[in-house]
Amino acid sequence: MRTELIDLASDSPGLRQQLRVLHYGDEGGAGPRAAIQAALHADEIPPLLVAQALAHRLAALEAQGQLRGSVSLVPCANPVGLAQRVLDQPYGRFDLRDGVNFNRGYADLCEAVLQRAGPRLTGRAGVDTALVRDVLREAAAALPAVGTTQDLKRRLLQVAIGADVVLDLHCDGEAVMHLYALTPQVDLAAELGALLGAQAVLLATESGDSPFDEACTRPWLALQQHHPLAAPPLGCFATTVELRGQADTHHALAAQDADAIVEFLRRRGVVAGDPAPLPAPLCAPTPLAASEPITAPKAGVLVLRQRVGDDLQPGDTVADLVDIDDGRITPLVTRGGGRLYATTPVRWARPGQRIAQVAGTTLVRVGKLLSP
Ligand SMILES: [Zn+2]
Repeated sequence: MRTELIDLASDSPGLRQQLRVLHYGDEGGAGPRAAIQAALHADEIPPLLVAQALAHRLAALEAQGQLRGSVSLVPCANPVGLAQRVLDQPYGRFDLRDGVNFNRGYADLCEAVLQRAGPRLTGRAGVDTALVRDVLREAAAALPAVGTTQDLKRRLLQVAIGADVVLDLHCDGEAVMHLYALTPQVDLAAELGALLGAQAVLLATESGDSPFDEACTRPWLALQQHHPLAAPPLGCFATTVELRGQADTHHALAAQDADAIVEFLRRRGVVAGDPAPLPAPLCAPTPLAASEPITAPKAGVLVLRQRVGDDLQPGDTVADLVDIDDGRITPLVTRGGGRLYATTPVRWARPGQRIAQVAGTTLVRVGKLLSP
């Protein structure tokens, strides 16, 4: 294992922050490469625990000669956000300096790939895949880095870009295991979902606002869209894995999740050995556009009527909103039904707040599909 310490660009004299990357296996070898990062939203803590469990497993696999490829693990992807506190509360989703979500606004490398790799495609998948990876690495290396957060985003992309597998580990408020992936990669997403016991697998070709996983995958998709006959297969499977809810830090769950991820890496050829039979999936993948945000129309006390993981019918009440001035109860219902996969952990709702998410199949949302 090689430990890489990356000094992030400083916003202020005397202030220095570092990104730590753990590299396992033969980094320069021909085997497949995986990149895994934890807690890009820095107040999402379960991924930090799963990363520790993964580090132990990867070190043991490396010592046993069981790594056929390489893995780059960023056990704390956002030291900037992890250091943020407001009135003694951790605050790691948005950069306090400008309010920008740490998992939005990643560099769009589609144009670079289209311009630099598109005209040089040979139609031979192996050659073209290597070409695209070279272009992606060069383009990521040339990204600007003005200030700490922009440098953090650039460095994380540099670690992951060109990898065969990219796992971005997050969690939700209160939630069952679920993940987000690119629609054409439904088979790989379903496979990882089955291993992790995911209860929702949400698919989109573009979620909006350029989250980290799509920055890794969409250049490959853009190449296919512009060169449908000559482009290589998608060379990167990237996904955002939501490791249940904020309070779900348990050793047993972390061990279970790390084992599932290692098994997924075995199936991708990163880890040696024959894969175990795939567990039965707990859900069928559904379009992210059909995922229904349940929104509070006004402020009030939230009384949940369902539990995460419940399957709802159209018209079912997800929660009651109790007005504390007149005592009136407003039922918050699902229009489309489906599996309730996430709720807010807070029981006071503000006007317009998304208080729950339902993975449905019938609704069609347009525009930006992710939470702010
Ligand atoms: Zn997150």
